[in-house]
Amino acid sequence: MAVTLPPLPYAVDALEPFYSKENVELHHGKHHNAYVVKLNELKPDATDAGLIDLIKTSEGGIFNQAAQIWNHSFFWSSMKKAGGGKPTGAIADAIDRDFGSYDNFRKEFINAGMTQFGSGWAWLVVEGGKLKVVKTANADTPLKGTAMALITADVWEHAYYPTYKNLRLKFLEVFLDSLVNWDFANENLAKAK
Ligand code: MN
Repeated sequence: MAVTLPPLPYAVDALEPFYSKENVELHHGKHHNAYVVKLNELKPDATDAGLIDLIKTSEGGIFNQAAQIWNHSFFWSSMKKAGGGKPTGAIADAIDRDFGSYDNFRKEFINAGMTQFGSGWAWLVVEGGKLKVVKTANADTPLKGTAMALITADVWEHAYYPTYKNLRLKFLEVFLDSLVNWDFANENLAKAK
């Protein structure tokens, strides 16, 4: 048994021009895959089915690799072709309720991504029935705590450099305006209830 690289939920060029094919190929095929290879080296009995339990119970190198595998899979599902813009459905109502407006949420999410110094992640999560924006450093993930992730943006430099060079702000704006998969957020929110 081993952990395997989850396939992308779309073709490698599906997110063009907002997230380049080259960027997807590098990020999924090289970076995401490297965490899979490394975890299998560190823990040969790790399995796909046991990944979440492993993240919750491990520390150090094993945690870092396992969490990065899950975080990246969650990130790929957080985007879709022709995504972005204002959400609809339950997530739209919850954002208005807990942030006051979509524009307030948008500012807060971008601010979280911009103020994560160095590598990490910006997340929309639900905790205790309330939506929140949080940021995590390096491999850290909401799975370690009590919040449930709804969407995430990877703000490691490798996530945006091939498409946006050093412009993390531009990537975060495009992520929300043209890529984010609100269907996925609605599915996760429904599971949280
Ligand atoms: Mn990444």
